[in-house]
Amino acid sequence: MTSIRKSTLQNVKKVLIKIGSAVLTGQDGLDLQIIEQLVDEIADLTKKGYQVVIVTSGAIASGKHRMGINGPLKSMPQKQAAAAVGQSRLMRVYSNAFGKHGIYVAQILLTMSDLTDRKRFLNVRNTLSTLTEWGVIAVINENDTVAVDEIKFGDNDHLAAMIANITEAHLLINLTNTEGFYDKHPGLSKKAKVISLVKEITEEIEAAATADTSSVGMGGMKSKVIAARKVTAFGIPYIIAPGKDKGILQAIIAGKDKGTLFLPMSEHMNSRKHWIAFTLRSRGKLIIDDGARMAIVEQGKSLLPSGIIDVEGDFGVGDPVLCVDGKGVTLAKGLVNYGSQEIHKIMGLKSSKIEQVLGYKDYDEVIHRDNMAVKK
Ligand code: GLU
Repeated sequence: MTSIRKSTLQNVKKVLIKIGSAVLTGQDGLDLQIIEQLVDEIADLTKKGYQVVIVTSGAIASGKHRMGINGPLKSMPQKQAAAAVGQSRLMRVYSNAFGKHGIYVAQILLTMSDLTDRKRFLNVRNTLSTLTEWGVIAVINENDTVAVDEIKFGDNDHLAAMIANITEAHLLINLTNTEGFYDKHPGLSKKAKVISLVKEITEEIEAAATADTSSVGMGGMKSKVIAARKVTAFGIPYIIAPGKDKGILQAIIAGKDKGTLFLPMSEHMNSRKHWIAFTLRSRGKLIIDDGARMAIVEQGKSLLPSGIIDVEGDFGVGDPVLCVDGKGVTLAKGLVNYGSQEIHKIMGLKSSKIEQVLGYKDYDEVIHRDNMAVKK
């Protein structure tokens, strides 16, 4: 087992570390001792030449504690206000802890809409790579004070998966308050054991993940496994590990058998296709026939109007839509060259008829292969 770990991790240089609220906070708000412990370990990694980016939670939990609120926060504005109080404190703590090692930190707060816009996505990438060149540690969190409903990442497991793509990290370590990913719910079964290596995220693996969360975090194991799928689809190994264990980062990097390693998929998507598949939200559906399914899934081809049976939703040119088969199974997601109203008119037709029907033809394909991510 250890040798698979070692070989998977041997060329890792860029490490993305996600630190959950349950790791960072204790009875008395932010747990300064744990933060210092982790920062010392990260500083040691950077001295050894590793490039580290952090995705951190803990703002809401810290703010809530500062405000003396004991029970759960009742409303969205309360959570957002707590995040505003806690985020500045969180950054001060990181800044002080890294300062002891002569390392500067940079705060980056993001919402989903920052990343669904390709231009802003690329701007974030440029900023992050400049910070890395400068030897500054980027400390990223969701911009909780402005993010509501559809612009919310929902949890930092998802945010970290998006950042893994942006930074093209070689490894994502998700530090949490469990020993790793268990084969059964550890709270319900005494026989539950940590799975050391997940080669493939099967239905059994998904079924073993529950949505229970700690009282302070948001994601739970389910969201960690969903994130694992996104990260490994980009060819990045993903490790869920106990964040409070002393020496955890050094042990992981050394290839020791700690937590759960999810191996990267051997055939993985490039950055743009990964962004289409996992960052963008679909605006509609194209129901496609069996011929189009074969062309897309088995032959690596584009989607032509002739293979489309039906259209759902109201969307425009360039919007992300799902391609589904007649049974409703999602096969792919891509950016359309025609809007929903145009597709209604040209579906089922040969591409040579597009101009006759619409009065113009910008493309033969409704979704070009280069703008399509096919589900594996
Ligand atoms: N962004 C939230 C915070 O900093 C945490 C979200 C999560 O727990 O995943 O408090």
